[in-house]
Amino acid sequence: MNEHVTLIGLGPMGQAMAGALLDGGHPVTVWNRTASRADDVVARGAVRAATPAEAVAAGGLVVLSLTDYQAMYDILGPVEDLGGKVVVNLSSDTPDKSREAAQWVRQRGGAFLTGGVLASAEIVGTEAAKVFYSGPAELLEAHEQTLRLIGKPHHVGEDPGLAQLFYLAHIDLFLVSLAAYLHATALVGSAGVSALEFLPWAVENLNTNSFLLPAAAEQIDRDEHPGDLGTARMMGASADHLLAASEAVGLDLDLPRAIKAHYDRAIAAGKGGDSWTRLIDGIRQPA
Ligand code: NDP
Repeated sequence: MNEHVTLIGLGPMGQAMAGALLDGGHPVTVWNRTASRADDVVARGAVRAATPAEAVAAGGLVVLSLTDYQAMYDILGPVEDLGGKVVVNLSSDTPDKSREAAQWVRQRGGAFLTGGVLASAEIVGTEAAKVFYSGPAELLEAHEQTLRLIGKPHHVGEDPGLAQLFYLAHIDLFLVSLAAYLHATALVGSAGVSALEFLPWAVENLNTNSFLLPAAAEQIDRDEHPGDLGTARMMGASADHLLAASEAVGLDLDLPRAIKAHYDRAIAAGKGGDSWTRLIDGIRQPA
């Protein structure tokens, strides 16, 4: 018999997760603040609980997919006893919120896993979906077969905050690189170049950047930043030109100013002859 899952929170993500668990043959009980959002998954075989307490009582594995961690307290606060329950919170928030929540659940007799979902609702349940988990490794092991239906699980450590950190690090790369793409497209667009014309160059640039990372990671971990293949001073001059060119055509300057500030800081610290990876010092200690 497949493990029972209680799923609380039926936004786009929760609905997709409920669907994947039902498709995998699991009995699923759902609760959502706006009851009508459960209609589709109930039609597919989920059981609708009348209250959060009823949903939690239905089984041992309680998966949360909510806007933030405050929603967990709003929903589970009145339940009080979480004895024997494994709460898996797949909602985004800060690492500290996950650490506090792990303690809060433990105080009520339950066990807690943090999850950071690297997937949009359309790909939940497919090979492409990945989920970072942190908390007790044995807890993930015990429920891995079930949770695998949502996305491929990766345990990143015992600290409950780690899964949020990994998730946010991905958001960092995602949001900043997309913002850079838009800025670059606007820059060439100022001379009438269309986004489609620029597209192959943007794709090649982003792909090529990933080849720089293995050597960069080694330099960062060793705290050695030899500038033999290119220096922060040389790249800082490019950052100056990017800012000047953006200003000349009237673009928003927030992004090039932020990049230039990183280079300026490394050069002012006397590290202009080091590799660009030296900029991490100023990012770690901006003062
Ligand atoms: P939504 O914000 O659309 O839905 C979240 C759910 O939280 C809803 O069921 C909502 O209930 C419930 N909720 C929010 N606040 C409360 C509250 N105070 N009390 C009770 N219920 C509450 O989010 P998504 O489904 O899009 O996302 C869920 C989580 O997954 C988020 O943390 C998001 O950051 C993360 N995520 C989302 C991705 C995406 O592509 N959408 C991708 C990766 C992660 P109600 O229906 O009543 O409003």
